[in-house]
Amino acid sequence: MSKRISILGAGESGIGAALLAKSKGETVFVSDAGNIAEKFVQELNNLTIHFEQGGHNENHILTSDLIIKSPGIPEKAPIMKKIRAAGIPVVSEIEYAAQYSNAKFIAITGSNGKTTTTLLTYHLLKKLGLKVGLAGNIGDSLAKQVVDEQFDYYVLELSSFQLDDMHRFRADIAVLLNITPDHLDRYDYNFQNYINSKFRIVQNMNKQNYFIYSGDDTVIQNNLVLKNIAATMLPIFLSKQSEFGALATSDKLAFSLNQKFEIPTLNIPLKGKHNMINAMAAISVASLLGFEKPQIETAIADFQNAPHRLEPVAILDGVEYINDSKATNVDSVWYALDSFTKPIVWIAGGVDKGNDYSQLNDLVKTRVKALICMGVDNAPLHKAFDTLVKNISDTASMQQAVEKASAIAESGDVVLLSPACASFDLFKNYMDRGDQFKILVNELMSANKTKNQAI
Ligand code: ADP
Repeated sequence: MSKRISILGAGESGIGAALLAKSKGETVFVSDAGNIAEKFVQELNNLTIHFEQGGHNENHILTSDLIIKSPGIPEKAPIMKKIRAAGIPVVSEIEYAAQYSNAKFIAITGSNGKTTTTLLTYHLLKKLGLKVGLAGNIGDSLAKQVVDEQFDYYVLELSSFQLDDMHRFRADIAVLLNITPDHLDRYDYNFQNYINSKFRIVQNMNKQNYFIYSGDDTVIQNNLVLKNIAATMLPIFLSKQSEFGALATSDKLAFSLNQKFEIPTLNIPLKGKHNMINAMAAISVASLLGFEKPQIETAIADFQNAPHRLEPVAILDGVEYINDSKATNVDSVWYALDSFTKPIVWIAGGVDKGNDYSQLNDLVKTRVKALICMGVDNAPLHKAFDTLVKNISDTASMQQAVEKASAIAESGDVVLLSPACASFDLFKNYMDRGDQFKILVNELMSANKTKNQAI
């Protein structure tokens, strides 16, 4: 008999889940408290899937056999409280889709680096000739791809919100890059709840599966012992060599896995220590799937990361301009500042989520030549850095910030947009913030065309 499935949230994942559930003959209802995008409305209409927008029909939802919930909907939403009280099972789209797939799953999570590592792993496996799909927080939904499955592998970027509603899913290879406090509003302001959510990535794994994780991350280390993990452990380090795992030094990545090999860091088309962690994770996956060093080295060579992540924009009068707008927390900024030895003119600020900036103190003292605060409320940055940076100024738009930066920076400096904050005070989102930066830098460049070069 067909199941009554209600899908909460009609974004990419919700629509994919609806298509899959319908293809399995279930009775499907899609409900979104906001507006549903026109292209999705059309898709639902084409398949005669019932839906509503602008509110939730409780009678319908609370009599369902199963709820598939969008990761964006918090547990404290009134409809979720009622669903929990009614005891209806709730799953994420990934959990729902995975049960209908025979492919192998490479699941990637962490507070930072998910997108970069997922894209790099996908790039490698695809170039190495595997039939591989990309899903999770990026690309088409897994559910949609599973409807007419064409892949033997999926690389999945998983957020903690997706992991929260995953129960039976088993990754063949799981990657946990790091854990730093984030999204605590969704976890009762309890860091351990967020940590537990991230560790769901290893649930149901067995000895034949691999767990790749940062061996240097103390939060991960401290929690490993509590979790009783059955998978084969594969730590990656910046600090020491382990018997089974990987290590990045300043000039090479050394792997000691099913095979031993080294790759010079010069051959990794990414910058910064954090990206060496990401690269070690992706290369380890390729190696565990049986590929050898020469093939991997060739495949990685032309990888281009997504924009807004330490993205080179231009060199203008000898000054390098870098767009790291996706750095919305302190940890990612630490790695950004650490990636440059040149003096840095740092543009930061926005909506501060209660940041503790103290871990940046040493890097700021030694590398930051000027701090340009760019936000509606710059007080937290002043409080943290007034005593550490001599040249500190306030701006309230990207235009002002770029003008200020270009006035201060001298040949041999780096202008780094790496905000440590969310963007909603002055911008639509981090992409809008990064795009505005790039447009303004490019305008500066075309005003002075002969000497300069775009990157
Ligand atoms: P996510 O998808 O987890 O947000 P991204 O790959 O989009 O991760 O990167 C977000 C920000 O974090 C960027 O500023 C990037 O330079 C930085 N970053 C990338 N990888 C790491 C890492 N392993 N550790 C810390 N910061 C990282």
